[in-house]
Amino acid sequence: MKDKIRVTVWNENIHERGEGAWADVIRNHYPHGIHNALKEELASPDLEIRAVALDDPEQGLPQDVLENTDTLVWWGHCGHHLVEDSLVDRIQKRVLEGMGLVVLHSGHYSKIFRRMLGTHCSLRWREVGEKERVWVVDKDHPIAQGVPDSFVIPHTEMYGEPFGIPGEAHVVFMSWYEGGNVFRSGVTFRRGQGKIFYFSPGHETFPIYRQPEVVKVIGNAVRWAAQELPNARTVCWDKDPALEPVTSENPMDAVDTSSLHAKA
Ligand code: ZN
Repeated sequence: MKDKIRVTVWNENIHERGEGAWADVIRNHYPHGIHNALKEELASPDLEIRAVALDDPEQGLPQDVLENTDTLVWWGHCGHHLVEDSLVDRIQKRVLEGMGLVVLHSGHYSKIFRRMLGTHCSLRWREVGEKERVWVVDKDHPIAQGVPDSFVIPHTEMYGEPFGIPGEAHVVFMSWYEGGNVFRSGVTFRRGQGKIFYFSPGHETFPIYRQPEVVKVIGNAVRWAAQELPNARTVCWDKDPALEPVTSENPMDAVDTSSLHAKA
């Protein structure tokens, strides 16, 4: 077993470099970007955390970084379209092989989240600085451990149902908003060997990633999503020799079908 869980926090890091009063507000919460703030907040002896951004070489995720990541955390908003499809391909492959994926807030519209889930992932939203109460739905889930039965985020962006995710979503957290909406705010999925968690809190103009309950959830999630079988590589397309004798007569015996299976 590895000594530490290797976490890579990816952030598009665009709003943080914006101009105007709203950008100053964001920089006040996150002077070095959301990715570095999460790195600071999640710091723990059992985690080896790296913070990367869209404008780093190879969009922050060269292959050796992906290969050495147990859980990838994703924050994006206005730059989803800038993420190269070839990077999405490489992340998807790693998730199917067992890398954990924790998608935060507006990452619900990221290419990688929609790729992994296969649905449109749209939702209702409203930005009026209202209160959100997050409820634990599955108290026994590892991501809910040490999290109060409910907690309040004083000011948030509302994300509301209907949320366009697959019906198989396992709901760990559910949110209620001051304006009356509800939302499946913490949901898990499995894709291949990979575990995926989506958590909606984290609108950039409020210091939500400085709130201990939120940090607790994300910290639990990166540990839960990390592959427990570090060497698992079960994406397997090998030709299989039959274990038992096949006695049926093959109607295709007289025809050579080997080129049907040739790689294009
Ligand atoms: Zn937002």
